[in-house]
Amino acid sequence: MHDMPFEFAKADYPLAPLTLYNVGGPARLALFPRDEAEACAAYAWMQRQPGPKIVLGGGSNILVADAGFPGIALVTSGLDRIEPAGPDRYRAGGGALLDRLVRDIMLPNNYAGVGGLAGIPGTVGGAIYMNAGTVNGTTCQLVESVELMGLEGRHAVRLDPSMYGYRGQTFCPPPTLILSGTFRFEPAEDDQRAVYDHYIERRRARQPQGRCCGSVFKNPEGDHAGRLIEQCGLKGTRRGGAVISPVHANFIMNEDAATCADIRGLIDLCKRRVLEEFGIELHEEVVTIP
Ligand SMILES: Cc1cc2nc3c(=O)[nH]c(=O)nc-3n(C[C@H](O)[C@H](O)[C@H](O)COP(=O)(O)OP(=O)(O)OC[C@H]3O[C@@H](n4cnc5c(N)ncnc54)[C@H](O)[C@@H]3O)c2cc1C
Repeated sequence: MHDMPFEFAKADYPLAPLTLYNVGGPARLALFPRDEAEACAAYAWMQRQPGPKIVLGGGSNILVADAGFPGIALVTSGLDRIEPAGPDRYRAGGGALLDRLVRDIMLPNNYAGVGGLAGIPGTVGGAIYMNAGTVNGTTCQLVESVELMGLEGRHAVRLDPSMYGYRGQTFCPPPTLILSGTFRFEPAEDDQRAVYDHYIERRRARQPQGRCCGSVFKNPEGDHAGRLIEQCGLKGTRRGGAVISPVHANFIMNEDAATCADIRGLIDLCKRRVLEEFGIELHEEVVTIP
């Protein structure tokens, strides 16, 4: 690590402020490339270093360990360009905020699909990686192709529906970096501004506000993780500064200077109790690092 060649590298960099949970320790090294060329150079260098690596987007689905990350974190915030790429097509950098794509591109053009993306925090890269969305649709459904930087260098992949599913995809095995996604939109018949306002308002009314990662668990086939956790009587359960939200049981909040251990404690409790009560294994949507 002594030959570290970038001025945008920071040693012992605190990761908590880069995540919406706002917990966890520092990364041994964090890289903040300012454009694609720097990101590719940083990625290639990073892969030659020993130890774990992670790509960090908006940090809205990440839980960092209290001891921190004993490796290199590549932060995508500098990859924030959104530009036209042909008729009804836009190329969005992996670090551009998803909400910017929705509000600056989809709404003014009344493009379809706003219902699936409205109110999801984080970046375009994170949304593609997680195939973020709702029952109304998901990110990857709107993506024509992605540009990736992986162990085999820079390359493009054209998406087809067999490559993604519920909160996941197969075209970007970690630690591949999503440099950008090219979205192909279609004009909608209904008013997408009204759709946007409706779902933003619904989130305000139904989801707890505060430091969290959204849904902690994926919904098991045909059921809702929140319902199962609630049925176990766990709403409002506390560990240190963390609480299973009394508003929505699939949300675990950092209410009062929670540690990662507090939150993990509640995650494990939910898993154990739901397995005991219903014989159902809950799978995490939140990504815990390392
Ligand atoms: C209040 C709230 C509400 C939410 N609602 C929803 C919802 O309705 N639907 C939903 O699906 N999710 C929801 N989420 C979860 C989260 O917002 C999404 O998963 C989001 O897409 C994550 O994007 P991010 O940039 O924050 O990714 P991060 O949290 O930074 O990272 C998540 C994962 O993506 C990887 N990643 C990020 N960027 C890249 C990149 N450029 N290249 C490769 N890998 C990358 C990371 O390595 C990590 O594994 C919610 C979260 C919160 C806090």
